[in-house]
Amino acid sequence: MNLDPTALQQEAVHVWSGLDGRPLSPKERLSIPMQEMPAQDPLARGKNMSEVALGYSAEQAKIEASRCLQCKTAPCVSGCPVSIDIPRFLNFAAQGNFTDALGVIREASLLPAICGRVCPQESQCQAPCTLGKSLKNPLMSVAIGRVERYVADTCSDSLPPPAVKPATGKKVAVIGSGPASMAAAADLRQYGHAVTMFEAFHKPGGVLVYGIPEFRLPKAIVEREVNTLRQMGVDIQTNFLVGRTRKLKDLLDKDGYDAVFVGTGAGLPKFMKIDGENLVGVFSANEYLTRCNLMKAYDDGRAATPIYRSKKVAVLGGGNVAMDAARSALRLGAQEVSVVYRRSLEEMPARQEEVHHAQEEGIQFLTLKNAQRILGDDQGRVKAIETLTYVLGDKDASGRRSPVAVHGSEALLEVDTVIVAIGNDSNPLLRQTTPELEVNNHGNFVVDAGGQTSMPKVWAGGDIVLGAATVILAMGQGRKAAASIQRFLAES
Ligand code: FAD
Ligand code: SF4
Repeated sequence: MNLDPTALQQEAVHVWSGLDGRPLSPKERLSIPMQEMPAQDPLARGKNMSEVALGYSAEQAKIEASRCLQCKTAPCVSGCPVSIDIPRFLNFAAQGNFTDALGVIREASLLPAICGRVCPQESQCQAPCTLGKSLKNPLMSVAIGRVERYVADTCSDSLPPPAVKPATGKKVAVIGSGPASMAAAADLRQYGHAVTMFEAFHKPGGVLVYGIPEFRLPKAIVEREVNTLRQMGVDIQTNFLVGRTRKLKDLLDKDGYDAVFVGTGAGLPKFMKIDGENLVGVFSANEYLTRCNLMKAYDDGRAATPIYRSKKVAVLGGGNVAMDAARSALRLGAQEVSVVYRRSLEEMPARQEEVHHAQEEGIQFLTLKNAQRILGDDQGRVKAIETLTYVLGDKDASGRRSPVAVHGSEALLEVDTVIVAIGNDSNPLLRQTTPELEVNNHGNFVVDAGGQTSMPKVWAGGDIVLGAATVILAMGQGRKAAASIQRFLAES
């Protein structure tokens, strides 16, 4: 049997085109090979910021969608945090009707081109997929996200923005402009309320703009979704830091807003609290990525911020943020980039696809190691990290095997840049300036099932409630809160 992916895909094109659109039997669907995503050559892409994954062709999207078994129970839908009717959209896509496929997705999600790229589908909709289970390989589930991406990229411009109901006379303030706020603003506007979005940065989009790099999520796509909000009539005010420019309470008491949604995210970087973290050349991943993405540090000569020239970079951490920081450092010109992680690859929280892409690009993975101090030269610049080796012990509260330090295993790794990517806490400004808001031990807002906070007329959702989570979970929370705000405004 020929297992070459290209040959298999050609065979699938042949299978599909030979059927003249007649309904496929489950057996035929099971035999259609999964469509691989074309990607830029690893060596070439490590030197540019263009998108790595190139997207399906129309034929591939149809073939991949036609693998769906159209299960009656559709476990994929319960795996999707916003419950997209996945079999229905895949059925349209399998027939080449991509516009109606997008219409189905849009019933539940405003941001399909974004979610198709960055959602961890392998642990959400694709995890319980019957096809993957039938083939006894979860990696062989229907590639729902890839088809979603194709459908959104091809048809988004041809669909009008969602319709807005007649004006209700009510005003809602939305604080922050990440996915939670975008989803809340879109729904609230559709109900007919006047919506103003306040964003601290000079560009709206939250982490989609300042955190996730261009090579994973082109910023033009985020801009298109932000423009959809503008076309719907959402007023977006940038460079507006609620808590400083204006207090949250003033929005309600003095500015006449009837309700407020807070989606301020988790943008406060955590540090290792080790010696040397104040040396020149140590960055939080947040700062590093913000300079690179929002301020386009890679765009030599035109960037709004200087680029930090690095030769050898150590990235501390093993999540998606660490992968983004390591791959960005490579593209900013570093010759050697090492991800230093204290457990093994198996426990790494980053998406497998991101780890695989990073490995292909030549990023080194120093697993079962951690930095215990950073050493500087006489100018106060980073010159090395001292690492300690770890072995894996028993499982801890996270369900992963815990790292146990091996004493006496100290070693030096020469680097000129250290990027700390060990997580983020929630942004503290609003809780500091609004004592009425109840927060938990992690500083996240406490909300009820509909997203309402302890403060009357104030709702919240996304990372400010969940801690650092995902785009789709943030969106889901924004939508839930918008529905709760709608019920409140309808009764008041
Ligand atoms: P955010 O996106 O953080 O947006 C909050 C916004 O509020 C920001 O723009 C901020 O400037 C603004 N703000 C904060 N305080 C104020 C204030 N007081 N006044 C006005 N504005 C304010 N998730 C995935 O699903 N897939 C991925 O691949 C993925 N990769 C990631 C990579 C990186 C580098 C990072 C950092 C996160 C990643 N995530 C990923 C997580 C995901 O981006 C977040 O879970 C999601 O963006 C949270 O959305 P949000 O709307 O709650 O907040
Ligand atoms: Fe299709 Fe998989 Fe969903 Fe079944 S679980 S409907 S095969 S995508």
